[in-house]
Amino acid sequence: MKNTGCCPKCNSRNIVRVSDNAHRYLAHSIAITKVVTVERVPVARYACCDCGYVESWVEKRHELDEMKKAFG
Ligand SMILES: [Zn+2]
Repeated sequence: MKNTGCCPKCNSRNIVRVSDNAHRYLAHSIAITKVVTVERVPVARYACCDCGYVESWVEKRHELDEMKKAFG
């Protein structure tokens, strides 16, 4: 979705990027996201405005490395 600009569930192109600061407004939350949030790695969401599907992405290379250090 981040890379294709297209929803994998309904093929909509009505996608918005929701920054980590704004993600609290989304009702969506999964276990890994909670853990990552505690470790202060920003997680951007890509949300489909047609079906409601949401993807979560750690976008920065050094943040991925931090995550690997913490959990790998
Ligand atoms: Zn969709």
